[in-house]
Amino acid sequence: PDVPITYYLEKAAADFPDLEAIHFMGKRMTYRQLLEDVYRLAQSLRELGVQKGERVSIMLPNSPQSVISYYAVLLLGGIVVQTNPMYKERELEHQLKDSGAETVICLDQVYHQVAKVKTSTSVKQVIVTSIKDYLPFPKNWLYPLKVKKEGMDIDIPYGEGIHSFSQLLKKALSEPVPSQVDSLDEVALLQYTGGTTGLPKGAMLTHRNILVNVIQCNAWMYKGKRGQEKSLGIVPLFHVYGMTVMMNYSVYLAATMILMPRFDAEETLKLIQKERPTLFPGAPTIYVALINHPKISEYDLSSIHACLSGSAPLPLMVQEEFEKRIGGRLVEGYGLTESSPVTHANPIWDRRKNGSIGLPWPDTDCRIVDPSTGEEVAEGEMGVLQVRGPQVMKGYWNQEEETSKTIRDGWLHTGDIGTMDEEGYFYIMDRQKDMIIAGGFNIYPREVEEVLYDHPGVQEAAVVGVPDPYRGETVKAFVVLKPDHSLTEEELQVYCREKLANFKVPRLYEFRDELPKTTVGKVLRRVLAEEERKKVQ
Ligand code: ATP
Repeated sequence: PDVPITYYLEKAAADFPDLEAIHFMGKRMTYRQLLEDVYRLAQSLRELGVQKGERVSIMLPNSPQSVISYYAVLLLGGIVVQTNPMYKERELEHQLKDSGAETVICLDQVYHQVAKVKTSTSVKQVIVTSIKDYLPFPKNWLYPLKVKKEGMDIDIPYGEGIHSFSQLLKKALSEPVPSQVDSLDEVALLQYTGGTTGLPKGAMLTHRNILVNVIQCNAWMYKGKRGQEKSLGIVPLFHVYGMTVMMNYSVYLAATMILMPRFDAEETLKLIQKERPTLFPGAPTIYVALINHPKISEYDLSSIHACLSGSAPLPLMVQEEFEKRIGGRLVEGYGLTESSPVTHANPIWDRRKNGSIGLPWPDTDCRIVDPSTGEEVAEGEMGVLQVRGPQVMKGYWNQEEETSKTIRDGWLHTGDIGTMDEEGYFYIMDRQKDMIIAGGFNIYPREVEEVLYDHPGVQEAAVVGVPDPYRGETVKAFVVLKPDHSLTEEELQVYCREKLANFKVPRLYEFRDELPKTTVGKVLRRVLAEEERKKVQ
């Protein structure tokens, strides 16, 4: 139907008013309460002058406030600008300037960052929420922003242009606010992307884009029972993956959202045992941390029946180990911000293929093209993946040139290298940009990382090309060992030589306690590569 996602929130509240919509840190909120708060905030925002088409930045960790803010802005026909609460001044300033957001909804702990950039951006008003004033939030669960070590009491200079989220809700009535969205082709959000590769650009996702991806998700799940599922929300809702697969899909299904403001392996295990989620969208590094937790076997994880892993390749060993613990399946999917995000996934209940990102989702056309000619390659051959479908963005905000480079004749150029097999399953080899060229040979870091992941002592691995005077680039591996394992560079090299052609074997190794990651847990190879480049400069 031609209705925005907020329609499904109203439907969930009408059909299941007393069903838990959100569980957050031991507190619960029903669908009726959630919708009432969305109406209250929408009214307040309207009174504060927020108009249709206006950009509103939401800078919150997973919390009831982040969900309420998102639907309130969408209801008013506003454009949500999801803003990572961990952004520092420089990143925040770029995003606020670029989007032209006049209103920011943020957590008190990051208010000082917003205050710093207020005069150099178009920000006119800030709505501040304290997780404490809205829902009690235990101290040890402080979002790890390292802002104020002493605790939760942060003085906010409320007054002209600075409003309290909870006061706004208290003052407003819970009367229905009709949706101001006239067409599903209007822009619903600017989802900034580019974090792993360059200066962030705002992907314009329309109301249709985001709704379609939820409906496609439901077709993939097809056994999801309305009003009966519970989804575990570890992935951040300010990232497109958490937004669609966790939040919007939960609302569509009238499922309970079990939100965690940040990931902690043991707390996650406890929460799963206690709250018994059925759905658990995640990223490989989250599942890796759980299977390697020394106490995992003490917890009952059997309630989980469907997990979709996205954002990075899912090692087979991780899939197998996690599936031993849960009552269902974990499969790999694929997507990108520009496509709301999911375009492919392995069938959850039917045949999946190891190492594959699966089949295109309904109504999604995919092809592999030769990057130099733009021609489609033969089955089984490698090339760049392009996708076309109703979930593909309208373009980048104020970036026509970038848009025309990325979307050509309706096809979204993903920048990922892959293949398709004879049964139409797709495989992603790596990003075009991450390919290493050493001594004239092309090396895909992912292939080398997978070999490293298969080593029983290795917990995490990242492979990058580092400058080399003779070979142009040479392969370097960054490795995190499992607890209680020790390994030397030589041992790893001997192991790699057994599994990889000589030119792919890392020449350099570095052991680390952890690897730099994005908010969805994707390893930031770029950061490691930059460190290496700086060393030779
Ligand atoms: P940027 O847009 O700056 O490159 P990003 O990569 O984090 O940042 P996203 O849109 O979140 O932006 O990520 C999309 C990319 O993630 C894809 O283009 C692809 O490279 C990678 N990706 C997603 N799922 C998978 C998967 N299953 N296997 C391999 N790579 C994946």
